[in-house]
Amino acid sequence: MNARARAERIGQVWEQLCGDVPYGSLIAGQVRRGEGDAVTILDPASGDQLLHYPDAGAQLARDAAQAAERARHSWYRDISAVQRGRVMWQAAQQVRACIEELAELEALSAGKPIRDTRVEATKVAEMFEYYAGWCDKLYGEVIPVPTSHLNYTQRVPHGVVAQVTPWNAPVFTGGWQIAPALAAGNTVVIKPSELTPLSTVALGCLLQKAGVPEGAVNVLAGLGGTTGAAMFAAPEVQLAVFVGSPETGRVIARAAADRLIPCILELGGKSANVVFEDADLAKAAGGAAAGIYAAAGQSCVAGSRLLIQKSVYEDVLARLADKAGGLRMGPPETPETQVGPLNGAAQQRRVLDYIDRARQAGARVVCGGQAESPGYFVQPTVIADVRNDWEIAQDEIFGPVVVAMPFEDEQEAVRLANQTRFGLAGAVWTGRVERAHRIAGQIEAGTVWINGYKTIGVMSPFGGFKESGYGRSSGREALMEYTRARSVWTETSDDPTMAFGY
Ligand code: NAD
Repeated sequence: MNARARAERIGQVWEQLCGDVPYGSLIAGQVRRGEGDAVTILDPASGDQLLHYPDAGAQLARDAAQAAERARHSWYRDISAVQRGRVMWQAAQQVRACIEELAELEALSAGKPIRDTRVEATKVAEMFEYYAGWCDKLYGEVIPVPTSHLNYTQRVPHGVVAQVTPWNAPVFTGGWQIAPALAAGNTVVIKPSELTPLSTVALGCLLQKAGVPEGAVNVLAGLGGTTGAAMFAAPEVQLAVFVGSPETGRVIARAAADRLIPCILELGGKSANVVFEDADLAKAAGGAAAGIYAAAGQSCVAGSRLLIQKSVYEDVLARLADKAGGLRMGPPETPETQVGPLNGAAQQRRVLDYIDRARQAGARVVCGGQAESPGYFVQPTVIADVRNDWEIAQDEIFGPVVVAMPFEDEQEAVRLANQTRFGLAGAVWTGRVERAHRIAGQIEAGTVWINGYKTIGVMSPFGGFKESGYGRSSGREALMEYTRARSVWTETSDDPTMAFGY
């Protein structure tokens, strides 16, 4: 397929999911075109122009926040929690029925292999299924206060929630944030990355078809600095949620601080994959390859630092290079493709520059290290013999590049694993269960895997330590983030006290 064929197919799938409307934003149930400048999307697999759409702009951002504000009363108060759960379940089934279309839209417009986007679209359905069951189980507690009073708590939604998501997994991160927000009784304005807005707009349309009221989920197709900034500035917004890079995360956290509203940040990582000599080395090498090369390394949890015990260092490197060399690179729509292109030219250049500078600093490029064209491909790359304080071991590269370094013993492994400003994820590979849990308990990260990599489930909390962010997505914990406790006091004595307290 060339870019023109991809663009045509994107148009057809868009029409199936959203109707016969031009590319735009979903506001109060209607797909509307913004008044901002045209945003052009290039095809990651060829570099040619794919499509363009108008930036939503400040006016649509305000309209979206007002639509969400109007919808929030009916979504929380007029629709019972049980009914809300039913609508969420119907939404899940609607997404399930359109997994193939969502996956295709995502693959073609983001350049991500269809085998990955199918999994991600399926996960979105699972998110709505999981949170459907939670709607009528979000209750408070009765607090044992003195008998002169009755005190209980309620879990109350924030109201209008504004969410921003990145380009590397748009529909997945969109569903991941929309589902718990809605289950908790909030309404949503979400802005996916300007590079990949279509799948989230389509998801919004599917939710509406399933019975989610108009205005409960609004999707802005637009730029961060214009549309995104206006969205967070809207007075209706009561919670800011951001999934993206630490650099932009700081901007969002400041915007939330200016408004004095809470903020959830899901940011980047530089996760350590720690392989001990007593591990199943074939499995560890396979896990290391999956950990870094899936999504061409454009994953927040990528296992981008490989720490290998000295005695098996060369052995694991050779096995990993073998795996890397056998991966199939190719266009996103081909089912056999395992590694797709990077999202853009700038990202490709950035990744290649990191590799060049590491080479010049004396690192050993064990395999890969080159660009491939057409499109923005970089070969699966292993770089060995780096020091942990080098930029290539400290910066999030967001490409198919893993750096490897040896360690002597457990103490050094833990020290190196934690010597990073990030704390999103990590893994330990060992044949000894005692060691596995001992190390897992010392890795400073929000998710740790033992003898595996990259498993995540909607039922389990996910989030970062250190500069990887704060707040938790998924699981019951996301519902705690998307609600606040209200404390209700009832005077039960006939002789109310005048004093503050009881
Ligand atoms: P980015 O920070 O460049 O952009 C993310 C989003 O922020 C985009 O939608 C962009 O339009 C928006 N934005 C930019 N400026 C804004 C502003 N002033 N106001 C409002 N919105 C604004 O990130 P990216 O390059 O799209 O994504 C890659 C990053 O995302 C990586 O660092 C990756 O690790 C991270 N990520 C984290 C998770 C997680 O769960 N922790 C998941 C996926 C990706």
